[in-house]
Amino acid sequence: MEILNRRISLDTFFTALKSAKHRILMLDYDGTLSPFTEDRDNALPYPDVKSILEEIISQGNTRLIIISGRPINVLKNLLGLKHLPEMWGSHGAERYSQKEGYTAIQYAEFTRNFLSSVIKWAKENNLDDSLEIKPFGIAFHWRGASDIKKNEIETIVEAAWNNRLAEHDLEFKKFDGGIEIRHNKINKGSAVSEIMKEYKDDYVAAYLGDDYTDEDAFNTLGNKGLKILIGKVPRLTAADIILSPPEELLDFLGRWSKSTA
Ligand SMILES: [Mg+2]
Repeated sequence: MEILNRRISLDTFFTALKSAKHRILMLDYDGTLSPFTEDRDNALPYPDVKSILEEIISQGNTRLIIISGRPINVLKNLLGLKHLPEMWGSHGAERYSQKEGYTAIQYAEFTRNFLSSVIKWAKENNLDDSLEIKPFGIAFHWRGASDIKKNEIETIVEAAWNNRLAEHDLEFKKFDGGIEIRHNKINKGSAVSEIMKEYKDDYVAAYLGDDYTDEDAFNTLGNKGLKILIGKVPRLTAADIILSPPEELLDFLGRWSKSTA
């Protein structure tokens, strides 16, 4: 564990959590609850993560939200939880909660057509292997590829589409292992902003994430909650502390569960 923000103490945090009226636990998925794997379709949670999440969810006094770039239907299967948590998938473009059910934004027809033309182009340019067609965007993956290949993918994709994205409210966003075309106003930061808007006082919140995309969330959360970077290597971050997965992550989630039991 590394404390980056000297004003932060985990003991003080968990004491406050115990007596808070509202408890908000926001969790990224890939690289946070699950280890990085080149086999993206089978990126399952670390052992014991599921049981602790089940515990926190069944206690019923934490608003536990998974915030991920993955589509909700994929997240749901990878998590494999008995009780579905609240999920903000596709960076917040689609949402699921017990209370509201499933909701999602809708792209205009010309944007849907545009995304189809990007997919067609990617296939014509032999990018099938790195292509991921998402409900609200398109990702190009290079996890496991050589540096030359990475640069090649990034350069060709950006050169082809960079000038066409803004007119569709889309943008390029890099993530750990690729680049994605997605909505330019919907990101983990806007997700956190919408969630936190519901709370005025008497709440304790934390956000756990590992990636560049989580920095949007950290920056939005500011001093309204504890910002935790999950990772083994320190890097430039807006987070308050760094926890190394899985042990320190499990320890944190376990303390959360104990504090709210
Ligand atoms: Mg992640």
